Formats: sequence, C-alpha cells, structure tokens
Amino acid sequence: MNQNERKAFQEVNESYTMAEAIAEAQRCLHCKVPQCKKGCPISNDIPDWVHELSKGNMGNAISIIRTKSNLPAVCGRVCAHEKQCEGNCVLGKKGQPLNIGKLERFVADFDSENALTHENIVEKTRGKVAVIGAGPSGITVAGDLSRMGFAVEIFEMEAQCGGVLRYGIPEYRLPKEVVAREIRYIEKMGVVIHRKTHVGVEITVDTLFAQGFDAVFIGTGLSKPKSLEIPIWQNGRCISEGEGATKCADLKRIRLATHFLRRVELISEGFMKRDELPVDKGARVFVIGCGNTAMDASRTALRIGASEVDIIYHKGIDSMSALRAEYDDAVKEGVRFNWWSSIQEIHVDDNLDITEIVLETKETDKEPVRRTLPANNIIMAIGATPATKIVRTTSGLDNDEHNFLITREVPYGMTTRKGVFAGGDVVGRQATVVHAMQDAKLVAEGIAQYVDAVKLIAAIEE
Ligand SMILES: Cc1cc2nc3c(=O)[nH]c(=O)nc-3n(C[C@H](O)[C@H](O)[C@H](O)COP(=O)(O)OP(=O)(O)OC[C@H]3O[C@@H](n4cnc5c(N)ncnc54)[C@H](O)[C@@H]3O)c2cc1C
Repeated sequence: MNQNERKAFQEVNESYTMAEAIAEAQRCLHCKVPQCKKGCPISNDIPDWVHELSKGNMGNAISIIRTKSNLPAVCGRVCAHEKQCEGNCVLGKKGQPLNIGKLERFVADFDSENALTHENIVEKTRGKVAVIGAGPSGITVAGDLSRMGFAVEIFEMEAQCGGVLRYGIPEYRLPKEVVAREIRYIEKMGVVIHRKTHVGVEITVDTLFAQGFDAVFIGTGLSKPKSLEIPIWQNGRCISEGEGATKCADLKRIRLATHFLRRVELISEGFMKRDELPVDKGARVFVIGCGNTAMDASRTALRIGASEVDIIYHKGIDSMSALRAEYDDAVKEGVRFNWWSSIQEIHVDDNLDITEIVLETKETDKEPVRRTLPANNIIMAIGATPATKIVRTTSGLDNDEHNFLITREVPYGMTTRKGVFAGGDVVGRQATVVHAMQDAKLVAEGIAQYVDAVKLIAAIEE
C-alpha cells in the first residue's frame, strides 16, 4: 500500500487527553443502581473504575476493568455502547450520556502504553484446557481459565491472533497493534499460543485429548460467508442458467466481504501485492447487506480507491443491523444507501468483467422501479455460518441445520461430546464481540466445574 492509502487507514476516532478523560469521568453520577453496568453484557463495574479514573488513579481503574474483561481496549472501540452501557446511562435521559466507551479505551491504552498493571500469575494446578481459535471468545476463555489456575493452550489456524478483530474489523476502527497488545497480555499470564495450527486439518480434537488436555473449547466463529446467486447476462444472453453456467463465484469482480477485508489486511501487512486487490482505482462498487461487515467493506473500498460505493439493502433503515455510529460514519465518508433494493441482474463483458447492474427498488405500496447502473464490483456482506471441519473430524460432536454447534446449559457450554465445550459465534448467539465474551465467560465457568468434577470423581475412585 502507498503512503496515502496507509494514511486513510489511520484510526478515525481520537482518544482523550488525561485532563479530558478526568473531566469526563467527573460527570458520572455514581448511581446506586448503575444502569450502565446492567446494560453491559459482561457487567463491567463501570461506576467503580470511572470513579478511580475521576481521581486520576489509573492503576486501580484498569485493575477493576480487567476483573471482568480480557479485551478492554477492543471493547472501548467496537462495542455497541449506544445500545449498551451508554444507552442506559442516566445522564443520557436529559443530555449527553457519559462517554464510557472512549473512557474505557483511554484507560486500557494508558495501561498498555505505560505497562501499569502486572497480573499476578496464578499457579496452574487445576487442569489443562485446549482452546481452538484466538478470537474474542477463545481469548476470554483462555484469560479467565488461566486466572482460575488452569494451564491453557490456544490453537489458532492464522498466523496472527484476534479472529475478526485482526482480519475483519479494519485498522481505521481497530488498530492491529491494539489487538496485538491484548494478546501479549494473555501470553504474559502464561497462556501458550500455537499459531498456524488448523484443528481438523493438522490436528484433531482427539489428538488434543490424547495429549492430556482435560477439556477442549471450540471458539472458531463464523468462517463460511454466505453468498447470493444473481442472474448474470452477457451480450444479451443469461449465462447463469443451464449446463456449464457461470455462477457469481466464478466472477473475479464479485467478492465476499470477509474475504475482501482479509485480503486488504494481508496486503497492508505485505503478504500480498497491491494488484491482487479485486477493486481497481476509480471502481464503482456495490455492497449487498447492511450490517457492520457491509459498513466496513464499503468504507474500506473507498479507502483503497473506489470512486463510488453504494450499499444495497432489501429492507429499510430501521432493519439494518449495523451500529448507528457506523452508519453515520459511512454516510459522512460518502457511502450511498439504497433501501428496499436488490440487484436483479449483473451484466458482464466478454472477459466476465462487470459492466452494469440492474437495480430494483420496491417500497411497500409502490410500484417497483428498475434502474440500469454502471458497475465494476459487487461485495456480498450477507452473513456467515460456522465451518464444519472440526465437526467432521470429531465423533459425537453435533451441529444444527445451520452448522451451529449444539451446547447445553449444565455444565454451561458443553457440546454433545463429553469434555468438549463451545462458545461465541460458533454456537449462534448475537454476533458481537461483547456477546462472544459474555458467552465465553459462562463457558469458562462450565469448563472449570466440569474439570473439577471429573478430577474429584477420579480421586474418589482411586
Ligand atoms: C467485518 C466485521 C465487523 C464487525 N464489527 C463488529 C463491531 O464493530 N462490534 C462488534 O461487537 N462486533 C463486530 N463484529 C462481530 C464480532 O467480530 C464477532 O461477533 C466476534 O469476533 C466473534 O468472536 P469469536 O471468538 O466467536 O469468533 P472469531 O472472531 O471469528 O474468531 C474465531 C477464531 O478461530 C480461528 N479458527 C477458526 N477455525 C479454526 C480451526 N479449525 N482451527 C484453529 N483455529 C480456527 C479463526 O482463525 C479465528 O481466529 C464484526 C464482524 C465482522 C465480520
């Protein structure tokens, strides 16, 4: 990437200065029954650390945050604060809610930059747990179990840890160095990470048990993006039907959003060449979908040189799953939104490059309107499902019809295979960072109960 492109990927939201952070923290009302804490899926003790921050006690503030969160610098940046902590803040009823996300980010960044906290390393005597996947759920399980006295090893297929935090959410929202710092913190606690280890390919769940692990956690997220089939037309003939038909997946100008974002990340890290990007300078790009992934893909396409980016969504603005703040930023940066719309046809030239699309807009009680628009690229951001490699290589592990792993309530998070647990996006809860963490925290408790019980029974039987 050239210098201008790198600049475009610099973090967009600025941090506080110390004086600003303290002044903001002093606005907290310290409610007796803090609604902000109720609004946080992991029940972060917000008023307590905000109080410490308001007095400038940074060490105490971060220690309180870390009792609940293994990813404070991440949550401070990408959580849906407007719907959670800040959305519940009493100050918001009459004016501006406390800027809790930005304050958390400030405290977490200050901690890493100044190496304030040093975690007490707990002796690992309670058992050995293998964690598959180093996304928010895997990191949370690893951090919590490590603090509880378990020896934890993470097996991650990618070269870098973080899952979507590393290869999905772009640098301008979440700098990779911030994610790397959180991972280093976990490693300092004694968690061992095996990178570039694809479970289900290089090793299996059975191999892990054979290596002496007492339990295995699967936190492998959603790695199979969904795609749409749209009729493709070439020289006045539909070529996407019948034998030898050309499908959307065959067109190099159509990409799945997560693959596109991953590719941009690999190019910025120098693992791929700039010309391997599927979006050319000046391209007219259409992004299908209206979640956070669609916002990230659109804003990223503009940053790498697209001249125009349009979001196509088959419903109205009230149904979009993207955060309002993400939508606002996308609008500010020039992304256009086409509500109640869908692409009906894709027109390609002799080289199978996209030349036009036919867009249909159909609002309730109105006649549909069809427009033919010049186009170069289509990016699909319509959701994802879990991959099935681990299920296929592990006996007794069941998934549902959408490939989500089936788990139970007691012990929390155990799958249909004894000793194998799962959590985060792979079990199909609300796909956000903090919900993956919330689920993983409960699973960590479930794993601890299970391993303790198994060891107790073994000791009695001896
Ligand atoms: C583009 C994008 C933007 C998003 N933006 C936001 C946002 O702003 N705010 C928010 O709260 N949420 C956001 N989300 C959702 C959020 O990132 C996810 O809900 C969260 O990352 C789920 O965490 P996880 O640990 O379950 O899975 P993941 O983050 O997907 O992590 C899974 C990990 O498992 C590894 N893995 C997979 N299979 C294997 C295997 N067989 N062997 C070894 N390792 C394996 C993967 O490489 C990965 O590291 C976004 C998602 C996307 C795609």
